[in-house]
Amino acid sequence: MKSPFNPFEMAQAQFDKAADVLGLDAPSRDLLRFPLREYHFSIPVRMDDGTTKVFRGFRVQHNDARGPSKGGIRFHPQETVDTVRALAMWMTWKCSVVDIPLGGGKGGVICDPHNLSQREQEGICRGWIRQIAKNVGPVNDVPAPDVMTSPQHMLWMLDEFETIHGGKYPGFITGKPLGMGGSLGRTEATGYGVVFTLREALKQLGIPIDKTRAAVQGFGNVSQYAVRLYQQLGGKVVCVSSWDQADQTSYTFRKLDGVDPDALLGIADRFGGIDKEKAAKLGYGVLPGSAWIEQDVDILIPAALENQITGETARKIKPSVKVIAEGANGPTTPDADKVLQERGIFVIPDFLANAGGVTCSYFEQVQCNQNYYWELDEVLGKLDTKMTSAFHAVSELAAKRKLYMRDAAYVISVSRVAKACKDRGWV
Ligand code: NAD
Repeated sequence: MKSPFNPFEMAQAQFDKAADVLGLDAPSRDLLRFPLREYHFSIPVRMDDGTTKVFRGFRVQHNDARGPSKGGIRFHPQETVDTVRALAMWMTWKCSVVDIPLGGGKGGVICDPHNLSQREQEGICRGWIRQIAKNVGPVNDVPAPDVMTSPQHMLWMLDEFETIHGGKYPGFITGKPLGMGGSLGRTEATGYGVVFTLREALKQLGIPIDKTRAAVQGFGNVSQYAVRLYQQLGGKVVCVSSWDQADQTSYTFRKLDGVDPDALLGIADRFGGIDKEKAAKLGYGVLPGSAWIEQDVDILIPAALENQITGETARKIKPSVKVIAEGANGPTTPDADKVLQERGIFVIPDFLANAGGVTCSYFEQVQCNQNYYWELDEVLGKLDTKMTSAFHAVSELAAKRKLYMRDAAYVISVSRVAKACKDRGWV
């Protein structure tokens, strides 16, 4: 997870660029470059061996002018407050670009769940809530699962919150298990959302989707559902890649007549790592992890990690590539953006392309608050509508003002949030 970039500085630099395009006034810039609030706290947990260990936790509320802060809680041994600050800011822009009435937040705990029992993890979840129960809630800040946190963690947190506040507040947290306030469609939402925006981009470029081929990095939650929907719409995914825990490296699995996600799922571990021997037996070519970016395809879908398309790797992208749909958060570095822009590759930026997850979390909150749960088709239909209209708002602005898609998405998001702050009389 170590990166040469300070993520918060990168988020501020991206914001500054949008603020320049918008000609934003000094107080608005000063407000939006930093979080509104952040909480740093200590969580003492009684461990299984009887000792007590103290974990450090954070919650950053970047902005809530458009609605309660929204964002995940990460459990990670290398968590830093700057990563949490950057992710909180990106959540503000993500909720704004899909025009849902939520702000941006993010939380974290410095810990490694691999080395913690279930009971110890429950202790961290309940301790996290005890430290911040008065500053989060359905009307001010709504957490969700993120890196190494799960629906079970969310349920422990909800239970602690409800115990403290003495009532039922299922809209306090999202990503809950189905039957306990979770929404149908949440598992599919991010990958499907990526493909809804990709479908619209191809329509706009006049490229029939059933004539296209794609290469995908990753085979986790986002990738698996993106691959499924894209292939249902007639596209062909020629490769996916994944991390091999035993070899401590990644591999690309290629099948030129189209990968079979069900077969690959059958030979993948629960972290989305594909077994290379079994894949070879199924007829997949096993190539180095970096090979996904060098394929002769129309579309690239990075759906694994940040900083994968760099100034250097961008030069390996084949001339056939017309669209990059960013499933992952931050897969493209600023110097790679310059290369992509020069080459005229159409980029669907991360906080637009992967906003399906938070959009469905918003639907979960709505369903919880009205205590009535929708059928799968209703959830996915509403998701499609939101993603499609968000894509068109951004692409129309990009065309009108001759902006790179990422810059257009920033301009829309930042201007909506800045307007909300101004209308409220904050600046
Ligand atoms: P995941 O943990 O389910 O899957 C990650 C996949 O990437 C796995 O297949 C893993 O083997 C693979 N991988 C890891 N390191 C790799 C490497 N070096 N090379 C190639 N493959 C590698 O994660 P996910 O939920 O699918 O998330 C993927 C990305 O999308 C992340 O950037 C995440 O922040 C972002 N994202 C996810 C959601 C969501 O709802 N899941 C929402 C928004 C953004």
